[in-house]
Order: sequence, then C-alpha cells, then structure tokens
Amino acid sequence: MVSSEPANSDGLLQAILDQAFNSVVITDARFDHGGPLIQHCNPAFCRMTGYSAEELIGRSPRILQGPDTDPAVIDELRRCLKEQRFFQGATINYRKDGTPYNVEWNISPIHDRSGRVRHFVSLQQDITARVMAESERDLLARALNVTRDPILITDANARIVFANQAFEQLTGYTAEEIHGKTPKFLQSGQQSEDFYALLKDALSRGQPFRATFANLRKSGELYYADQSIAPISDADGRVQHFVSVSKDITTTVERQQQLSEQASRDALTGLLNRRAGDQVLEDARAAAVTRQRPFSIVMGDIDHFKKVNDRFGHAIGDRVLVDMAKRLMAQIRETDHAVRWGGEEFLVLLGNAPVEVAATTAERIRRVTENQPDPQAGTITVSLGCGQWRDGESIDALVDRVDQAMYRAKEGGRNRVVVAEG
Ligand code: GH3
Ligand code: MG
Ligand code: MG
Repeated sequence: MVSSEPANSDGLLQAILDQAFNSVVITDARFDHGGPLIQHCNPAFCRMTGYSAEELIGRSPRILQGPDTDPAVIDELRRCLKEQRFFQGATINYRKDGTPYNVEWNISPIHDRSGRVRHFVSLQQDITARVMAESERDLLARALNVTRDPILITDANARIVFANQAFEQLTGYTAEEIHGKTPKFLQSGQQSEDFYALLKDALSRGQPFRATFANLRKSGELYYADQSIAPISDADGRVQHFVSVSKDITTTVERQQQLSEQASRDALTGLLNRRAGDQVLEDARAAAVTRQRPFSIVMGDIDHFKKVNDRFGHAIGDRVLVDMAKRLMAQIRETDHAVRWGGEEFLVLLGNAPVEVAATTAERIRRVTENQPDPQAGTITVSLGCGQWRDGESIDALVDRVDQAMYRAKEGGRNRVVVAEG
C-alpha cells in the first residue's frame, strides 16, 4: 500500500488491505482546496480504476466521475461527508482509460482520539457484471412480455417461476397469484390420465412435448391451446426448468367441433343423420365385442305418413317428424343415440341394454306417440321393431332383423311393437 503518511503502522492491517478483494480508499476530512483528498488506496482500488496509487494520492476521488455519474448520488455523498454521517450508494464511475463501470460503495467517517473526524474510509465494489446480468434479465422478461404467445416457465419440480402478459391475458390469472404453484389448476378434466402420462414421460426423458391442451381459464371457461413444453437443462444435462409456449386455438377448435357436429346432424330434426348413425352402431359393436356388453336397437316408422303429407301438406308433415324426434330424445338416456334413419324412419341405439330394455323403450315411444296428437294432423301412430345384438353379428344383419320385426308390426296392424328373435 502506497501512502503519503502512514495511517496505521500495523503491518497486519496493511497486509489485509493489500490483499482485500474489495477496493479500499481513505481520504482526509478537509473540505478546503478541493478536498477531501485521497491519502491511501489499496491494490484492488487501483485495479478497479486503472490508476496507479501514485496517480491517485493527493487527488480528489472526483476524478473518477464522468458524464453518467449520477449527480444526485454525489450530492447526497457530499452532504453525508459534511454532516459526518455514514454514506452508501451506487453510480457509474470512469476508469483512467475512460471506460465506465458500476460501483457500489459506502463511506464511514473515522474519529481520532479527540473525537474529531480526520479521515473517511470508503469500501467499494465493481458491480458492473451484476448490473449487466440484472439488466439482461429485465430485457429478457420485457421481451417475453411483449411476445404475443403465452409463455410459462416452471422450475424442475413444475413450480411456476414466470408467466408472461400474454399468459395472464389468456388465462385470467396474474403472474403473482400463480407463482410457485404447479400448472395443475389449468387442467379441465377433459384430457385422460394417459395424456398427462405421455407428457410426463416425454419431459422426464428430456424430450419436448407438443399437443392441444383443453384447459380452464380462471373464470372456469374452457380454452384450447396448441402447447409446446420443453425442458431446459444445465451444463451437466440436469433439467432446471420447463418452458411452455402456447397458441390460443380456441376459435379454430370450436369451429371444427361445430362443423363436425353439424355434419353429423339431420337438419330438420337435429337427430344424428344416417352416416353418423352407422358410425355409432359400429362403435357400439366394437365396444360390445371388447367389453362383452349387450346393446340393442329400436327401429320405428310412422304409420300412414303419406296421408299426413297428402292431407295437411309437407310443412305439417315436417312438424310431425320434428315432434317425433323430440319424443324419442325424451325417452332415451343421454348415452343413447337417436338417428333419423330414413324419411320417417327412426333408429334408437341403447348402449349396454338387453332386449327387454329395448322392448319397454319401444313400447313407451309407441304409447306417447299415440297419446300426443298433432294439433292439425290428429293422432299419429308408429310401428316399431326392436332387437339385441347377437355375438358375431354384423350391423347390417342386426338392422335387417329389426327391420323385419318392424315390418311384422306393420303387417300385424300397425301401432305396435315386435321384438326380433334373439
Ligand atoms: P306405412 O304405414 O306403411 O309406413 O305408410 P307410409 O305412408 O308411412 O309409407 P311410407 O313409409 O312409404 O311413406 C314415407 C313418406 O314419408 C313418403 C315421403 O313423402 C314422406 N317423407 C319422407 N321424408 C319426409 C320429410 O322430410 N318431410 C315430409 N313432410 N315427408 C317426408
Ligand atoms: Mg311410414
Ligand atoms: Mg317409411
């Protein structure tokens, strides 16, 4: 340590100052002649500022200031020194070569035995790296916030550490309220355990996962997101974070659902159309094969419907069909299906139901139809056939069998139910 006059002759103290990682600078406590002036500084201070001790001794620390030095901080510093108070602050200073650095420092007044302040001791630290890291982090956070795609970052235990503004807008949650939680609260229950197992499996193998997620907003409303989740690993390959980027595809998914819903419905009655009917029958057969569950069908055809059209017109005929559809829907469970099989022919699929259930359902349909006359066309009746699927039977064969039963109901005098032989 170079000094104009030894402040402390203790060699140990000197050695500590010389080896200190932090910069230490000692000034006198005079405010005349441009003071206080530097009396001592350690090698760390010389390294930080680029000046040699010789160049600094006898000068004011003011030589370190420059255009971006915060004048308010310096004013506060001088006020503290004059009032002999402790000071702590941070600003930008300049090295001998003119390059700026961020410095954080404190200054303490040192009293002599008589109680007078003779020196100020200042401990300083170059915090440029820290300031740059902080500003880079701020920049990245701001960049993520202006990104329009919702972004969520979790730690390795799936606890949320960051959510951008687009995510807040999409979900209705604020970043603060979900911080530290796992994203489980977004789950709508519409996705199977298998789906989340696949997600877990991919991520645990360090693989990214992409899928359409059906999630819930804070309001409880459903939304669909095309979501990519990727693990972020450290240098040793250990997963530290997961980042999820999503796109709100709710409108697209709902439009698709609407279109496929429309495509499977009969326009007049709203029942499933023949094509969709074929599909649910095939699905029921597949389920019956794998799960050994019986299923049955009921087929109905309105009696003398031609006369309704001929006497009362097509519009009344249509109304009779619509009312018939409503009666069918009222007589079946939510898991069953009602199909407009042909013009005034209907088919009802009763899942997990033996023929007895089909027979009573058919009889109920027959009775309510007879008992609910149309205001203009009067009493409407329907002939029905019903039957249970046989092991190994094709859908065509089943429909044929039940159709023949229905035909026997017509032949037998109409307004009746005939059960197809099992
Ligand atoms: P049956 O008792 O033997 O069944 O006699 P039916 O008069 O009902 O005979 P059929 O089943 O052959 O008649 C079907 C009639 O249904 C013929 C057709 O004009 C009419 N129809 C088919 N689709 C519609 C429709 O969408 N609206 C109306 N109003 N009539 C329809
Ligand atoms: Mg008919
Ligand atoms: Mg017919």
